[in-house]
Amino acid sequence: MNILITGGAGFIGSALANRLLLDGHTVRVLDDLSAGNPDRLHADIFFTRGDVRDKPKLWRLLKRVDCVYHLAARVSVPESILYPTEYNDTNVGGTVALMEAMRDAGVQRVVFASSGAIYGEQPRSPVAEDFSPKPTSPYGVSKLSAEHYVSTIGRLWGIETVILRIFNTFGPDQPLPPEHPPVIPMMLKQALGGGSIPIYGGGTQVRDFVFIDDVIDGLAAAGTARGVSRHIINIGSGQGTSVLMLAETIGALTDHALHLLPVPSESGGVSRLVADISRAETLLGYAPQVSLAEGLSLMMTHDPRFLRLKV
Ligand code: NAD
Repeated sequence: MNILITGGAGFIGSALANRLLLDGHTVRVLDDLSAGNPDRLHADIFFTRGDVRDKPKLWRLLKRVDCVYHLAARVSVPESILYPTEYNDTNVGGTVALMEAMRDAGVQRVVFASSGAIYGEQPRSPVAEDFSPKPTSPYGVSKLSAEHYVSTIGRLWGIETVILRIFNTFGPDQPLPPEHPPVIPMMLKQALGGGSIPIYGGGTQVRDFVFIDDVIDGLAAAGTARGVSRHIINIGSGQGTSVLMLAETIGALTDHALHLLPVPSESGGVSRLVADISRAETLLGYAPQVSLAEGLSLMMTHDPRFLRLKV
């Protein structure tokens, strides 16, 4: 297939691009490099720098494309609370522009990377796709609005749509920005470097941490599976881990005494978010392979940033 990946120079997008190339597809990537790095991409991937809202560029890139993976987005919950307009512009505006350009170019299928963040606080756990979404941050709202645009425009113009609600993904090469870093690479870096680890709101929040290779398996299957159009599908590990349990696991794996620093909870978070993955198992043959401890060990042995700290 000819595939375009928006946001394909990012953490998940670059792993997906390299995997789809290996599977024999022709892969194009569009990324504005606001957070991505094209050096992550195999030399045989066609990379274009640009904004996902740039329709003339999209028309050119979408020629003869069979399937689009739409991952381009701003991705931080705390940042979205500070800059909701930017999150709306990129995550919602970018999705609408892309769907319109896909309609014009006659693309057959889109796989949209949505998020577990659309669920918000729910009375039951794990969360299934038919639960009523209650996002608690502008990021979650932007992903939910984008889902509606994808389904609605897809239905109106006969574009196959698959929406994947991805949970907390971790793995080697995960970006570690100085502001609002994701919890796993931040904890690993602090643990190995002897720094203190901020624990928000007592560390009792439970999350579903899913290894990058498992997420890529789910995404790859969603591009080719039959009978999945119009479906919304959770992609997680199905396992809940509290932030304190995560810190304990990292302490045991790194063999370091951790300096935990209690800090007040951040807004926009929820107490528990764990995926019910039965629909992914049924529709995509999805079966997560890598446990949290195995994934953390892989990060420590494959990621030069952590290898350096281990010495
Ligand atoms: P990332 O920040 O590494 O990747 C996003 C990419 O989009 C970056 O390379 C960035 O440069 C690019 N981008 C941003 N704005 C753009 C624009 N206007 N035009 C073109 N490119 C633009 O984040 P990620 O973790 O790889 O996330 C990828 C997708 O998966 C996102 O849509 C995110 O919402 C979704 N997702 C991620 C997680 C997770 O845990 N990482 C969980 C749920 C959903």
